[in-house]
Amino acid sequence: MTTIDKNMALTGQPPKALAPKQRLATLIGFSGLIILLLASFGIQFPNKGLWLTLSLLAIFAGVTWFTVLSYQQKSKGIKNDGVWFKSVSSMGFWGWMAGIAITGFYIVLYFFPQYLGLVKEGANTGVIALFDPLSRLLSGNPASQWFVYGTLYTVAILAFGIKFIWKYRHNRYEIIRTISVMFFQAAFAFIIPEIMARLNGSLPYYDLKNIWPLNYYNFERYRINGFISSGDIGLALLIFGILSVFVISPILTYRYGKRWYCSWVCGCGGLAETAGDAFRHLSDKTVKAWKIERWVVHSVVVFVTLMTTAVIYSYLGNDTSKYWLTKSSFLIGVASLLTLVFAWAMVFKRKQLQKDARYGAIGYFVVIMVLISMHVFSGEGNIFLFKSETLRKSYGFLIGSIFSGVIGTGFYPIFGNRVWCRFGCPMAAILGFQQRLFSKFRITTNGGQCISCGNCSTYCEMGIDVRAYAQKGENIVRSSCVGCGICSAVCPRGVLKLENGPLKGRIEAKQVLLGNDVDLMELVNPK
Ligand code: SF4
Ligand code: SF4
Repeated sequence: MTTIDKNMALTGQPPKALAPKQRLATLIGFSGLIILLLASFGIQFPNKGLWLTLSLLAIFAGVTWFTVLSYQQKSKGIKNDGVWFKSVSSMGFWGWMAGIAITGFYIVLYFFPQYLGLVKEGANTGVIALFDPLSRLLSGNPASQWFVYGTLYTVAILAFGIKFIWKYRHNRYEIIRTISVMFFQAAFAFIIPEIMARLNGSLPYYDLKNIWPLNYYNFERYRINGFISSGDIGLALLIFGILSVFVISPILTYRYGKRWYCSWVCGCGGLAETAGDAFRHLSDKTVKAWKIERWVVHSVVVFVTLMTTAVIYSYLGNDTSKYWLTKSSFLIGVASLLTLVFAWAMVFKRKQLQKDARYGAIGYFVVIMVLISMHVFSGEGNIFLFKSETLRKSYGFLIGSIFSGVIGTGFYPIFGNRVWCRFGCPMAAILGFQQRLFSKFRITTNGGQCISCGNCSTYCEMGIDVRAYAQKGENIVRSSCVGCGICSAVCPRGVLKLENGPLKGRIEAKQVLLGNDVDLMELVNPK
């Protein structure tokens, strides 16, 4: 009896099933997860430290062994074999199942931590209790849901980071970049804050690599009080927090583009690049998605700026003898800073802004109007009828929890791995604004070499149609580009190169007629 082969690929058959050893590696990895699951359902493990170690080691060993089995027999080079055939990476049944499971985990984590075993007054139970020994070892405190999350997050970045390095081992940029995100996650986000908590109990938890507006809560009253009451180290951290917004970040973005943060340092980017690598091709490349992206992400920037201004405003006073910074001078300062940035962009960078200028102008107008209104209409801590606390809570709920966690990570298998970075992250938006207007970074294209294979566009996690630029030989200077370098890594012709160079001539749109720009039928059939 003959069978019909429906596959029309010229490049060989898609992988049919996992090899026996790969199945074993998968089983080992899942056995680690099952230990955590059993603990969540209330199973008591006698020696918690031992079982936690076993669980984390099993997850780590399962992923790394699977990686070795997947790539060791193959020559160096990109191996994205069968991504559109596998159910989990092509929005198939397993993709949806994975999405639902991760989303469910985030909902419980953010809104129902008691089901993970968090007990406010008393000893933890469930899976959080399983992490108590590790937490006590590092900070001296019992675990919280955030410690459990931080540990799993770090393990995921380390294990899948090894997978990523192995997969892209032909590319030096990818190897160094991945080692960097693994280091920053393990040291700056996980170990150092825990040890700081052990050394100085009154110091607020501070992930040193999280910069405002990503850590939108950094300048809240309780944190400011915590920093100030913790002596020199607290004050140093507070100053570092301010410097990182106004000095460190602008300088690095000017020199290297936003990639220094989004692809080399940031934890969200780190998880997206490593654990989310298998889903990068799912990003939406349509012009419509690009438009939505600009509107949503810039609205989030306006929201976070308003919210932070309102929070700081609410705890300042009006008495000049008591406060060196009063409510009015603070508002004037914020309004002047925004005016300066806006005026600079409009006067010197108007040409480069194009459509974005309008969006910037609207956003800016909203911020200024609300600021002025705040000053005129607000009472102590109020903005119109809202308390600054209400604004902060709404932001924390809508953006901090729902967008960054539930949608941003839970929807990896559906919308791709950078949904949050692309549509929701205010930090990425601000860095992107600078990257577009005032940075040396660009991706150069050697258009004559391009064979229009489309690999670059397919694997661009930010949904940039890289090929369209390559075909025109035009530099890619896009706000959203996180400089991951994957477009360059997957290009078979060496067309794309990530470079830092002089500002002059960086944005040079080639006048090529594209289908997007004009309705050709209107020209063909003049009325
Ligand atoms: S254009 Fe290239 S470097 Fe930029 S985000 Fe897309 S794949 Fe990464
Ligand atoms: S991957 Fe390289 S050759 Fe293929 S379309 Fe992109 S730039 Fe052109």
